[in-house]
Amino acid sequence: MLKNSILSIMALALTVSCKTTGSGTSSAASQPVSNCEIVIVGGGVAGLHTAYRLGPQYGEKICLFEKEARYGGRIYDIAKSPDQVAGPFIAVGGRRVMEGQSIVIALAKELGIELQEPPPQDELTQARGMSAINKDEMIKAFPGLPVNLQAGAYEGQLYDKLLKGPERAHVEKYKNLHDYVIAAVGQPGFDFLHETYRFRADFEYDLSAKAYLEYLDEENNAGAICPSGNCRILYPAGGMSAFARGLESKARGMGVRFFTSEPVLSIDKVASGYQIKTGKSLLITPKVVIAVPPVALANVGGNIPAAIRSQPQFKALIGVRVTTIAQWYDQPWWHGIKAKDGKVVWRAWTTGNCINSVEIPQEPYAAAQNVIRVVYNDQLDCVLKWETLANTPAAMEEEINKGLTMLFANNGVTQPVTITKPSKTVYWEWPDAWYFIRAGNNYSNLDIYKWAVQPLPGEDIALVSEGYNPQRSAWTDGAYKSSIHYLNTSFGMNLPGVEP
Ligand SMILES: Cc1cc2nc3c(=O)[nH]c(=O)nc-3n(C[C@H](O)[C@H](O)[C@H](O)COP(=O)(O)OP(=O)(O)OC[C@H]3O[C@@H](n4cnc5c(N)ncnc54)[C@H](O)[C@@H]3O)c2cc1C
Repeated sequence: MLKNSILSIMALALTVSCKTTGSGTSSAASQPVSNCEIVIVGGGVAGLHTAYRLGPQYGEKICLFEKEARYGGRIYDIAKSPDQVAGPFIAVGGRRVMEGQSIVIALAKELGIELQEPPPQDELTQARGMSAINKDEMIKAFPGLPVNLQAGAYEGQLYDKLLKGPERAHVEKYKNLHDYVIAAVGQPGFDFLHETYRFRADFEYDLSAKAYLEYLDEENNAGAICPSGNCRILYPAGGMSAFARGLESKARGMGVRFFTSEPVLSIDKVASGYQIKTGKSLLITPKVVIAVPPVALANVGGNIPAAIRSQPQFKALIGVRVTTIAQWYDQPWWHGIKAKDGKVVWRAWTTGNCINSVEIPQEPYAAAQNVIRVVYNDQLDCVLKWETLANTPAAMEEEINKGLTMLFANNGVTQPVTITKPSKTVYWEWPDAWYFIRAGNNYSNLDIYKWAVQPLPGEDIALVSEGYNPQRSAWTDGAYKSSIHYLNTSFGMNLPGVEP
């Protein structure tokens, strides 16, 4: 059950749904909707991008229906106070762009979005009672790692073994990723990767080893992610929602019709086309672009979603649950978390207290807000723990404080700091933060990406979303590429950025 809440220290017991924030126009309750030549279901970045690119040709013949009162889906930025409708915002979902994501970088330029690049700072790792700035030092807590001790960069060595080692040739014989990793780097290697990495779910969910390694090939390809070689990470001023705002406003300017707070309830094939039923309207269209991820498609009725859901490709997708918690403070106590090299810590991973990962924004736009992401967790047992704690805001804040205290107060490697009381806490749970391919089938990421363009042979129905592009799992890059692949394939567009 998705549960999200804002709690404020000023009114600690107050729990307010986050879901009412955002902007957009709604169709009038009784207004008939007609002449929709293309219906787009979902106003996340994949749906918005599709509307924006088709806008010049189809304009008002495009009707986009969005369930929420806001656009952006898993791109969701919030302000400290609901009155701050123009921000500043901080993300409860996606935050960053890598310099190698050429489509996203080009789109930022096209939409006039400034990308800010903070100077590199330190990262802290904590596991098995030990803390380190240099992750290699963690080897002391993980005896028996199958690495060349003299060469250093142990994490990189382990990933090299997973991606380029001899076991890769036999990857298809392993039941799942877990078994493959154990075979390739042993239990100590598995434990090191699992406990000192930020994304734990990768090692815990029942994932297809073959598909995951394909994803990792691209994810670990420095040329693809950080062509300059120093992994430049960029943050949009205005938050990632600047993309959603930009796409929506440009598409609206081209005449595209938008309907917010209007979920599509069912899609049915009928004699005259596809019948779309929303909370407010009933219409017929010849073409449907379903821009909602698998978890949302599960809730749409009608014979078309049912036929898609019955396909083995759809069943092969598995969503990862993620919790994020943001906290605002009156004073930025984290400025004191400095290592011996004089740099501050901007990211930390820990196995303690279900914190999993902390992120302290450094880019000027977000850093000025005195807000940090205190929990970024994809470990399933911890998602459940936070879900329960969120019912008792004071207990949740106490648990966060315990975790931050263990991580930063006196870890022996950074200057001690005193963690103060937050002025506001926002808890958010994503039931489908991103998608991978589950174990037990032979689909490649490419198979799913191609299938999504026309999942039902003979039908003018497409799926576009990060959820149908597991090669670029967890990135808006994946959503845009899914949309571009559809536009190039079905409309003969020649949009750059997707490999043949
Ligand atoms: C915690 C977190 C961190 C992330 N970090 C990053 C990052 O740093 N950088 C990055 O690039 N990416 C990041 N991502 C991934 C990125 O947010 C997603 O890949 C991307 O936003 C997916 O877009 P989408 O359009 O495919 O799907 P979604 O964003 O899920 O959009 C689907 C839309 O459909 C709507 N909808 C659902 N059901 C219906 C219905 N029945 N009728 C009408 N509308 C409906 C939803 O409300 C939503 O607006 C992160 C994601 C999460 C959750």
